Amino acid sequence: MTTVLPTAATGASGTATGPEGLLPRFGHVIDGVEVQSASGEVFASIDPYTRKPWAEIALGGQAEADLAVAAARRAFDEGPWPRMTAGARRTVIHRFADLLIEHADELALADTRDMGKPITQSKGNDVPRTALNFRFFADHAALSPAEVLPMDSGHHTYTRFDPAGVVVAIAPWNFPMMLESWKVAPALAWGNTVVLKPAEDTPVSATIMARLALEAGIPPGVFNVVHGYGPESVGSALTEHPDVDRITFTGESGTGKIIARAASANLVPVSLELGGKGANVVFADAEIENAIDWSIKAIFTNAGQVCLAGSRIYVERPLYEEFVDRFVAAANAMTIGDPKDPATQIGPLASGEHYTKVRGYYDTIGESGGSQLSGSLGEGWFIAPTVIATPDSDSVHQREEIFGPIVTISPFDTEEEAVNLVNDSPYGLNAMLFTENLTRAHRVSAALVVGTVWVNCFFIRDLRAPFGGAKASGVGREGGNFSREFFTEPKAVVMQMLPPAPH
Ligand code: NAD
Repeated sequence: MTTVLPTAATGASGTATGPEGLLPRFGHVIDGVEVQSASGEVFASIDPYTRKPWAEIALGGQAEADLAVAAARRAFDEGPWPRMTAGARRTVIHRFADLLIEHADELALADTRDMGKPITQSKGNDVPRTALNFRFFADHAALSPAEVLPMDSGHHTYTRFDPAGVVVAIAPWNFPMMLESWKVAPALAWGNTVVLKPAEDTPVSATIMARLALEAGIPPGVFNVVHGYGPESVGSALTEHPDVDRITFTGESGTGKIIARAASANLVPVSLELGGKGANVVFADAEIENAIDWSIKAIFTNAGQVCLAGSRIYVERPLYEEFVDRFVAAANAMTIGDPKDPATQIGPLASGEHYTKVRGYYDTIGESGGSQLSGSLGEGWFIAPTVIATPDSDSVHQREEIFGPIVTISPFDTEEEAVNLVNDSPYGLNAMLFTENLTRAHRVSAALVVGTVWVNCFFIRDLRAPFGGAKASGVGREGGNFSREFFTEPKAVVMQMLPPAPH
């Protein structure tokens, strides 16, 4: 959650811990320099466990958007980065990834304090995944083969993947550094320059990353960060900017529509990774232990604040009661508490505003089923794991993205019914199937209108594969060559290889 503070110079610029009594201060990083806003305005990042400000951030607007795009444009038009070989960029990006790992404690604490994510996840998963994203795309850009087409006419056609230009990346708060790296890494690896706007609830790790990028040798102006809000602020100033070549956005589907409109006004290609309502289908022949294990992780990781969260579970009727009993027991056994404590599995929700939204869904559970447990812990914005076991299949809890630790479990009788239940959603990001029947797994995977199907597992990713959503879950795919298509300007070059044929 964010609160605007009066203009102040209270904090020391520096690490995510800062001297006692002073809030650590984080600026924009524009053209290689960490700066405050021209207006002098700042805002606070609130720790959702203590509900108190813990860091002070420069609040950007149109002026900062203009400065950052101009810096990225200069670095693209005149600087070395787009002109280096992909191999040379790879060396620098690997050095950057090394620094991210060296600063794992600082980065992990930043995301944990900004949004309440358990430290075991931010340090154990998000930091290594962020570094991996940079390493993967640096390697992919440098090493992946490109097709050459020998033609009957005696010509060869090949494709160049030239950098596209200035990339604006707008990120959400649920996996701050990790989702930012999913955009910044391919953009940099293919020679673009970037302006990143992190979510206003989770600004700190982006500034730390930009500082480390400079230390690694990524030239000034190549990776810029500006902070502030989205609508009628620095976010819209960036997405409406006429001097931008690509916009990559992850966030809510409603915001995606606004950003798509802004991009279309300037004919800028846009990639949208949007909301989801992930479904798990558990057939009666599933290995129940495995299905429960993954289904618990799928909804309660990051307190359910995951676009891929498996928030509606459909279980074939013969297994239904046993599944519900064992799932509830597993949910009850989870440790809720201070996200900085390594024993914590579920922390608070990211902000007061988000808590109010999720609490609204919680308070209407009576209308669609029974809750097993919930409650408020300490000062933080907590909602405990909540299970709605219901024969209903069309409640608000099954249709809307709650983005919290609330899950429905409903029975089904036939494979066809299960497919229809999954597809009967405005979203189409992902689904999970649990079955030992190989033929059925292939058949159902083919029938689902989603971007990713996991069979007997979840969260596992090969970064070469397409990632994205169907329907209201997104436009376009990223990952591997899909990212290459988006972050480059592919160009066909036709070479005459043999002397021209006599006329
Ligand atoms: P959000 O749409 O509220 O905000 C995302 C970002 O957009 C923030 O940085 C915000 O400041 C900015 N923004 C908001 N309005 C803007 C505007 N008019 N112009 C420019 N920028 C604007 O989303 P959120 O609440 O931060 O994130 C949660 C959502 O993100 C959920 O719906 C979740 O499913 C989705 N998400 C999707 C994926 C995916 O890969 N598909 C991954 C993570 C999160």
